[in-house]
Amino acid sequence: MTTDGVPERTGNNLDPWYANYAERASGLSASEVRALFAVASRPEVVSLAGGMPFVSALPQELIVSSMEKVMREQGPTALQYGSGQGIPELREQILDVMALEGIHGSVDNVVTSTGSQQALDLVTKLFIDPGDVILAEAPSYVGAIGVFRSYQANVVHVAMDDQGLIPEALRQTIAHLRGQGRRIKFLYTIPNFHNPAGVTLAAERRPEIIEICRQNEILILEDNPYGLLHFDEPAPDALRALDPEGVVYLGSFSKTLAPGFRVGWALAPHAVREKLILAAESAILSPSSFSQMVVSEYLATADWREQIDRFRGVYRERKDVMVEALGEHLPQLSWTNPNGGFYVWVTMPEMLDSKQMLPRAVKELVAYTPGTAFFADGRGRHAMRLSFCYPTTDQIRVGIRRLATVVNGELDL
Ligand code: PMP
Repeated sequence: MTTDGVPERTGNNLDPWYANYAERASGLSASEVRALFAVASRPEVVSLAGGMPFVSALPQELIVSSMEKVMREQGPTALQYGSGQGIPELREQILDVMALEGIHGSVDNVVTSTGSQQALDLVTKLFIDPGDVILAEAPSYVGAIGVFRSYQANVVHVAMDDQGLIPEALRQTIAHLRGQGRRIKFLYTIPNFHNPAGVTLAAERRPEIIEICRQNEILILEDNPYGLLHFDEPAPDALRALDPEGVVYLGSFSKTLAPGFRVGWALAPHAVREKLILAAESAILSPSSFSQMVVSEYLATADWREQIDRFRGVYRERKDVMVEALGEHLPQLSWTNPNGGFYVWVTMPEMLDSKQMLPRAVKELVAYTPGTAFFADGRGRHAMRLSFCYPTTDQIRVGIRRLATVVNGELDL
């Protein structure tokens, strides 16, 4: 204390407010992906690291005319605050999008958000007290792990294989945690074209996973931004389609349209939706009216199904090239072969460490995301995530060749 009763600041040299932060701020650390973006954005580096959609493939003129029409015809509304739940026209259109995945909800239960990331944050805020357990696949989305940490949750990973989350592993993990008296609040899962694992939850596992969660009174948080980006068969019906009351579903226009709009949504059981709207209003008052109206206008005028088809074609070609190049240059590694989405998960021999190897890779002008980013418990050292969404097929070939130079150098080949 100082003589006037004000607590003395005990900050460090870098941040004088160090001692004043709330405990939850200690969970906020720069993700490995974020640090990488700076390095990998140099034009000479082939970045297989980020998850940036290939927005240049969009019909730019149609987007321009949608913006113009919104401003000319509804300018004052677009520039004004809106409803905390989102604009009704867009919420209706979101129902059409979700119908493609077997989901039939009510427009009342759709809440639009500033990207699905914000909905993820709000749901976590609603359900998590410090120390509560969230179950998540091993590995899981780095941005979700960051949110969960910021609310001081304990993330417990559940094993997955090339058919997705393993029901028996889920059962055993729940029993083990219950035995320790731990509180499990929800299962966070990405059933389709998983980020980062690139796998899809098998249709026959879906009802089983729902039943396990139902029996244990565990809510399911289903995150599905990639569901419509399938290369062959559509993904099996969403978990939400099988259990409307037990699932909060998150969707997004970031991958099927463009992340710059920052428009995503949650479809929640009625009671949860009420709380979600209140939480959204407290966080942001209302999502961007302008963005929502432009997306809505675009959906009303564009052949968006055809546009998503075009995206599928681009991503499919890039995935094929990546998997072929891995086979040619890195046959000593193993990798997933996704049926959709943006990512391939590569597993290396155990003696290799993808985090330690990264500076060498960047020196060779290729970047990837180390596997450790996708675990809350330090695992993933001998794995990495490769994204095929953004680089061209030529860049992917060059990138994998460079990666092979690095890996083979580490293996002394
Ligand atoms: N969930 C997953 C699995 C993601 O990969 C992403 C984006 N990388 C998000 C949520 C967040 O997406 P957005 O906020 O852009 O909708």
